[in-house]
Amino acid sequence: MSNENCIFCKIANGEIPSQTLYEDDSFRVILDLGPATKGHALVIPKEHYANLYELPEEQAGEAMKVAKKMAARMTDRLGCEGFNLIQNNGDLAGQTVFHFHMHMIPRYRADGQTIGWKPQEVTQEELEEVKKQICGE
Ligand code: 5GP
Ligand code: ZN
Repeated sequence: MSNENCIFCKIANGEIPSQTLYEDDSFRVILDLGPATKGHALVIPKEHYANLYELPEEQAGEAMKVAKKMAARMTDRLGCEGFNLIQNNGDLAGQTVFHFHMHMIPRYRADGQTIGWKPQEVTQEELEEVKKQICGE
């Protein structure tokens, strides 16, 4: 299934050229055009799923396997010292291309990037309440 208005469908299926690092029947890994760091790559399924909610479980597992293989190779070849895997769902969460993709961001000493969040204070009672909300009947 592919979506004719989706740029990542076109890239993943080779209609639009990209700097491809890896390709198999189900995935393409490309270099991001607006990289956070050298080697910033995107793992993109060839089939169109808007986000993690839509992605079938099996493809979710396969995407992580591809990321693991690429992380080993990229660490070896680029000499990065760490990696962020980031995956945005929904515009509120920073998603701008609505075809599932996983960011692979190699990290280097003094790369100038801060990828993170401001930790909030929370009580044990609040944590208990959230757990109940997620896990309770
Ligand atoms: P999101 O914000 O949806 O998680 O990430 C979208 C990413 O796709 C951004 O990092 C952006 O730089 C990248 N991107 C958008 N359009 C293109 C494109 O046409 N080619 C490539 N290689 N990357 C793109
Ligand atoms: Zn698509």
